[in-house]
Amino acid sequence: MRIVFATSEANPYIKSGGLADVLGSLPKALVQKGHECIVVLPKYQDMKLADTLEYVMSYDIWVGWRKCYCGVFKAEYDGVTYYFIDNEQYFRRPGLYGYDDDNERFAYFDFAVLELLSHVDIKPDILHLHDWQTAMIATLYKERYAYYEYYQGIKVVFTIHNIAYQGKCDPALLSDHFGLDNYLYYNGNCRNDGCFNMMKAAIFYSDVITTVSPTYAQEILTDSFGEGLQSILQMRRHDLYGILNGVDYDTINPSTDPQIVEHFDETTVDEKKVANKLALQKECGLPVDPDIPLIGIVTRLTWQKGLDLIINRMDELMKRDVQVVILGAGDLKYEEPLKGFAAYHNQKLSLNLKYDFGLSCRIYAGCDMFLMPSLFEPCGLSQMMSLRYGTIPIVRETGGLKDSVEPYNEFENTGTGFSFKNYNAHEMMEIIDYALEVYKDKDKWRGLVHRAMNAKLDWDKSADAYLKVFNSLLD
Ligand code: ADP
Repeated sequence: MRIVFATSEANPYIKSGGLADVLGSLPKALVQKGHECIVVLPKYQDMKLADTLEYVMSYDIWVGWRKCYCGVFKAEYDGVTYYFIDNEQYFRRPGLYGYDDDNERFAYFDFAVLELLSHVDIKPDILHLHDWQTAMIATLYKERYAYYEYYQGIKVVFTIHNIAYQGKCDPALLSDHFGLDNYLYYNGNCRNDGCFNMMKAAIFYSDVITTVSPTYAQEILTDSFGEGLQSILQMRRHDLYGILNGVDYDTINPSTDPQIVEHFDETTVDEKKVANKLALQKECGLPVDPDIPLIGIVTRLTWQKGLDLIINRMDELMKRDVQVVILGAGDLKYEEPLKGFAAYHNQKLSLNLKYDFGLSCRIYAGCDMFLMPSLFEPCGLSQMMSLRYGTIPIVRETGGLKDSVEPYNEFENTGTGFSFKNYNAHEMMEIIDYALEVYKDKDKWRGLVHRAMNAKLDWDKSADAYLKVFNSLLD
């Protein structure tokens, strides 16, 4: 099977969040199962491994009424072929997103991907699209390209990584950027709540829609989580699948991770993990103490991640015998109060307002617990990474958090973490207190750590689930 993935980010080249992790691992896992995978992404200014890219060709494309240059570069990594779409006007800028013309930039990219298929002759069996940035490829394919002989027979799969970002914009952009007739807005195919909505269009036009955990697939059918798209998702519910992401066990690996001070695995965790804790305490300016429970938080600072609960209970948490390390960047609304707490409780709370991959690894490796009380969480990778490093997650039971963390049961001695149900600061504090209580019993805690490290959350099972969906389309 040949699968072409269109995405706005992918490891190891460019990352802003979990999407890049998925696109760095799923194609690799499918290649290992004997399939051909090609990933297409924009050629950004700040890309890693930029000197490994080779120029292939260039051509012009039409984006609405504009004629645009499209350069193509190529690289191979882990058996996967990557194509990079080059246009300096759109992508030679710092960062990935957040520009006023993002809609136009990704409209350009969507056309470039479809044109690439015929220009380099890589007609796929499956064209796999991800989030709003590549969502309109489904509409462009079904309304336009599928009429050309070369393009016929391609199956389109759209994956929702986060329904909160939909690509909502002015209806005029449907013709202005995509050259599509306005009747696709008026007949409702691309319309939602008075806007042209790219994700809505992809849900309508794709052959199959997937999302990144079974629980999230159920949640987005409801008014509370559907973000206005619940009706169209209910209409397509027989073509909607929830497939839990995995983590790449080769790179997310405490026995080889170059970022941490002491390597360990399931057999050596009891003796060796603590060296990472002591080093982390030192690095973060906290008192070095092997016995005090150390809680880590690595996150984008946005409303989705449960920061309101954390801020609400921070003073209470600081009364406990505990240390907390926070790594995150984002909304000032959260940064400012956290700065206040960090200044006041500087012997217990270390605040690191930045994006720092190395420190994130050292937090996963060095902490005892990992707090992730998200309001909603399509899948979440951080809790899976902490499990892999024997750091016990404390999560809210939503989306992928519910699907990947098995609640601790002290009577049966089962479970890999702690979880609470309602988005409520008291409930969160209660479960933190319970975790701190269990932590005092070294035997029980050791059992939790070993079960967490043995939770098989790699890509093997998830890649099989994707293949099952792809095969059902091709049959
Ligand atoms: P999301 O994609 O919603 O941000 P995920 O849990 O799916 O959440 O993935 C987040 C990824 O980004 C994880 O790999 C996490 O380690 C990483 N990450 C988030 N914030 C930071 C940060 N400030 N520094 C380093 N890595 C971060």
